[in-house]
Amino acid sequence: MIIGVLVELANKKLDKIFDYKVPAYLEKDIKIGIRVEVPFGRQVLEGFVLEIKNKSELSDLKEIIGIVDKEIILNEELLELGKSMKKETLSLLISCYQVMLPKALKAKNSASVSKKYDIYYKLNFIDNIKLNDKQEQIIELFKNRELVPRKEILDISSSSLKTLLSKNVLIEEKKEHYRMSYHDKTSDVKTLTLEQQNIVDSVNLSKYDTYLLHGVTGSGKTEVYIKLIEKVISLGKTAIILVPEISLTPQMVARFEQVFGKKIAALHSALSEGEKYDEYRRIYRGEVSIVIGARSAIFAPLSNIGIIIIDEEHSDSYKQDNNPRYDAKRIAIIRGNNHNCPVLMGSATPLLDTYARACKGVYKLLELPNRVNGNSLPEVEIIDMNNEIKYSKGHFSKKLLDSINETIANNEQVILLLNRRGYSSFVSCKNCGDTIKCPHCEISLTYHKTSNTLRCHYCGYGTSLPKVCPSCKEEALSTLGVGTEKIEEELSKYVPNARVIRMDIDTTSRKGMHKKMIDAFKNHEYDVLLGTQMVAKGLDFPLVTLVGVINADTSLSIPDFRSSENTFALLNQVSGRSGRSKKQGRVLIQTFNKDHYAIELAKKHDYKNFYLKEMDIRKQLKYPPYYYLCYLRISGKDYKIVSTESNKIKKALERNLKSTIILGPSPCAIIRIKDTFRFGIILKYKKEDLLIETLEKIINHYRDNDKITVDIDFNPNHF
Ligand code: ADP
Ligand code: ZN
Repeated sequence: MIIGVLVELANKKLDKIFDYKVPAYLEKDIKIGIRVEVPFGRQVLEGFVLEIKNKSELSDLKEIIGIVDKEIILNEELLELGKSMKKETLSLLISCYQVMLPKALKAKNSASVSKKYDIYYKLNFIDNIKLNDKQEQIIELFKNRELVPRKEILDISSSSLKTLLSKNVLIEEKKEHYRMSYHDKTSDVKTLTLEQQNIVDSVNLSKYDTYLLHGVTGSGKTEVYIKLIEKVISLGKTAIILVPEISLTPQMVARFEQVFGKKIAALHSALSEGEKYDEYRRIYRGEVSIVIGARSAIFAPLSNIGIIIIDEEHSDSYKQDNNPRYDAKRIAIIRGNNHNCPVLMGSATPLLDTYARACKGVYKLLELPNRVNGNSLPEVEIIDMNNEIKYSKGHFSKKLLDSINETIANNEQVILLLNRRGYSSFVSCKNCGDTIKCPHCEISLTYHKTSNTLRCHYCGYGTSLPKVCPSCKEEALSTLGVGTEKIEEELSKYVPNARVIRMDIDTTSRKGMHKKMIDAFKNHEYDVLLGTQMVAKGLDFPLVTLVGVINADTSLSIPDFRSSENTFALLNQVSGRSGRSKKQGRVLIQTFNKDHYAIELAKKHDYKNFYLKEMDIRKQLKYPPYYYLCYLRISGKDYKIVSTESNKIKKALERNLKSTIILGPSPCAIIRIKDTFRFGIILKYKKEDLLIETLEKIINHYRDNDKITVDIDFNPNHF
């Protein structure tokens, strides 16, 4: 037997299948999709079996060394999916497979994460053996049971256990136990409103179609998802539901656990590697029917999928930011086709591209224009900070401070958003004017007061705050700009009685913290939840009646053609956290750009007019959804080489691509990260037959070049 093996080494020179012979005694266990160990040069590597055949074009093949695990870890569907991904993202096939698996199932990691076992004992025989009291007691435990846990026996006597084992009266048996456990079902799907039921009825579960569910915040999209999944389960099928990374997961998992109990598995970054490993194996062993998770859960090895749901579809977390740069929504559509099942994307503020497709009929548009139970959307007020400076305290307008006080006095809760973490965004010198920058990146360092450190939010570099300016040695450093830490400090000064909890990457990095904070806030242990965009999405707290946006302009000022769209979505999402139960909610947005259309229309909750206005601008500027975008990122340690090669690449593109607009090369938004210089070329096109071929040529040209990396990013989120 000969097999084709893809070795697990992400190397652009090695991304192909190598043939190996299989020794006769291993043949029976060889299957497509399992992993084997092979000799490779002087190393031993692991790899996936992709082909089984009788002949090879090569003679003199080496034999495989062994089999890593007998269970198939990539089934046929996922193997094919990897191949499409490779084509669509122009990345390595091996990286496409690796990204589908939890770390523990990738080469070299399996050793560090082990299966967990519980030890049990089984009764073997008791004939002709004289037992003492303790031993009798132990045997008693087996009266109506086959297996007894070790602990129960130890509670009686550990020496008797030893004796019984040595005489073969008892036999040890190990049973794997999973690290995650779920509660039994505790509640049902809520009785749907007529509007919700209409949506459920319009989704055809027996064939592929992509649906966009455009439902305002609080319209009860989650219950619609749950009902649809319940129907799918009753047909004997399975379901995947994706949520944006972190923010939504705990609440969503909790709600799904109530309705579906142990049928669910969760996959997201808050799990330990061991937990992910166990969850993943529960899935491929067919022990669960529903997978809830972040982006990579789209690869869940479920069979017989009956629906794929993507909540908050506008979130940019669905696109992976490094290679392979896949888009989970695109993968969902491929898998929806594979399983001939619907794909449902939901959002209160759909991505422009998605909504445009729905308007054209490529996706089916479903709408929930009202909140559940006749609640109205919260009233939004814009506070012009240009007029407020005189009356404001710190970064709070008088109105916002008064409203916070009122809300707390009413025994209700507040959410405050500031989309920037840390204490201040710059530290600069009043004497020489210098700003302290990261030594490895072209970006200023953020001051974190809690730890008294300066940190780079791009590479993680950290240093303590110096006493004097590093340039002029004067004691004249001051902090500028504002982050969540500073707002927390101001709150304790201006609203001293408020119980404030801050939620951002810095306070939630410890495992389980995120969920703890959400639970504590939900239990009303705090009055104010302050945080970055983490607090904006999806959370459902009935007592929140005031949402305040400290500064709506942070996201508007990002140099990105999507900044208006992102701002509108963020304001809409965070506003949606207010007034979700009986009481009317309010939203106060502080801004220096009160006339900006993204802010004006967010105030009116007017998605449609925002869509029309923004589409107009995109058309004029030739941006998506009118044009496709592809970003070539050219990087390397040597500035000169990067810049010269970027220009050469541009010329090559110009020679080959006749119907594409080519912009650049120009420095990326941050020209240097981790000591690597970065240039970008933007391609705008509607239809360009030679695109893939040309890009492949360029990648191949730089395959052996260690000085330059060319990264191709279709439909990029960052520049
Ligand atoms: P969305 O995701 O659209 O913002 P949610 O699904 O979080 O909205 O629902 C908003 C609130 O309404 C939640 O508290 C939810 O429990 C409640 N809800 C949703 N559907 C119903 C229903 N049919 N009956 C009663 N309450 C509902
Ligand atoms: Zn840095």
